[in-house]
Amino acid sequence: MAVKLAVVGLGKIAQDQHLPAIAASSDFDLLCGASIAGESPRGCTYRDIETMLESEPDIAAVSLCQPPQVRFAAAHAALLAGKHVLLEKPPGATLSEVEALVDLAAERGLTLFAAWHSRYAPAVAPARQWLAGKTVEAVRITWREDVRVWHPGQTWIWQPGGLGVFDPGINALSIASYLLPAFHLAEGTLSYPANQAAPIAAELCFTTLDGAPVIADFDFRQTGPQTWDIRIDTDAGELLLSKGGGALAIAGVAQPLPAEAEYPSLYARFAALIAAGESDVDLRPFRHVADAFLRAGRREVEAFVE
Ligand code: NAP
Repeated sequence: MAVKLAVVGLGKIAQDQHLPAIAASSDFDLLCGASIAGESPRGCTYRDIETMLESEPDIAAVSLCQPPQVRFAAAHAALLAGKHVLLEKPPGATLSEVEALVDLAAERGLTLFAAWHSRYAPAVAPARQWLAGKTVEAVRITWREDVRVWHPGQTWIWQPGGLGVFDPGINALSIASYLLPAFHLAEGTLSYPANQAAPIAAELCFTTLDGAPVIADFDFRQTGPQTWDIRIDTDAGELLLSKGGGALAIAGVAQPLPAEAEYPSLYARFAALIAAGESDVDLRPFRHVADAFLRAGRREVEAFVE
C-alpha cells in the first residue's frame, strides 16, 4: 500500500523535483502540504506543520523541503507525532540537532532519511564501481556556480545556518564522501562578503589518511559556463565526473550513463527504508562543512548585492 505523505515547504526544490517525483511514484500518495505562502497540488494545504499533523492523522511520512534553519523544529514535531521523515539536504543547521533527531527516530522506531540527492546522479554509481580496488592519488573538486541564477531571492542562504556557498558545495562533498576513502580537512579559507553572514567562496585542502590531497574550490561568483566537476587521479588513470554527476569520463573517454533520476531514486530509497524499518543518516558531508567553519581561515570580500 502507498505511504501517505505530506510535503512541507513548497519552494523551488519541492516544486521542481519533489512533487513530480512523488506524483510519478507508486510508493507514495501525496495527502497534503504545509506551506507559509503556497498551495499543495492536492488542494489541501495547512499554514504550519503542527496544525497539519493534528488535523491529518492518516499522514505516515513527511518530506521537509524548507531551508535548513527551520528543519529541526519540523522534523522534531513530525517524529513526536509518529511520522517517518525525509530531510532535504543539508539535513539541518547543526550536527547536534540532526544527531538528536537520529536518536529520537530510533527511540520511536521511525525512519529518518537524510537525502543526499547528488549521490543518485547518473555518473555516481558507475564512478564508484570503477574506483573500487584502485588507489586514489589526488582529487580536485571544482564547484562554481552563479548564485544569482540558481538561488535568486533566497535570503536564507546568506543567514547563519544557510551555509552560503556550501549549499551547493555540500552536494560535491556528498559525492566525494561516497566515492573516496575517508578524508579530512587540513586547511582552508572561507570568503565572506562584507555584508553577509555566510561564505560566498571556499578554498579547502583535505587529505586522505594516505596523504592524497583532495582540493576543493567552491565559488558562488561564477558567471558564464558553470562548473560542477570532480577530477580523481588514480593508479589506473583519471576519472572525471562533471555536470554535477551528469557526465563521466574515464581516461578521457566519455562513458554511457543511465537517464537522470535523482529524486525518483530518493523516493524509492525512502520507501525501501520505511518498508525495512531502517534509517539512513550519513553525516559525513555535513561534518566536512562544519569542519570548514571550525578550521578554515576567513577573508572579507566585496559585499554581495542581489
Ligand atoms: P526556496 O525556493 O527558498 O524554498 C524554501 C521554501 O521553504 C520557501 O518557499 C517556503 O515555502 C519554505 N520556508 C519555510 N520557512 C522558511 C523560512 N524561514 N525562510 C524561507 N523559506 C521558508 O529554497 P529551495 O531552493 O527550495 O531550497 C530548500 C532546501 O532544499 C534547501 O535546504 C536547499 O539546500 C535544498 N535543495 C535545493 C535545491 C535547488 O536546486 N534549489 C536542490 C536540492 C536541494 P512555503 O511558503 O511553502 O512554506
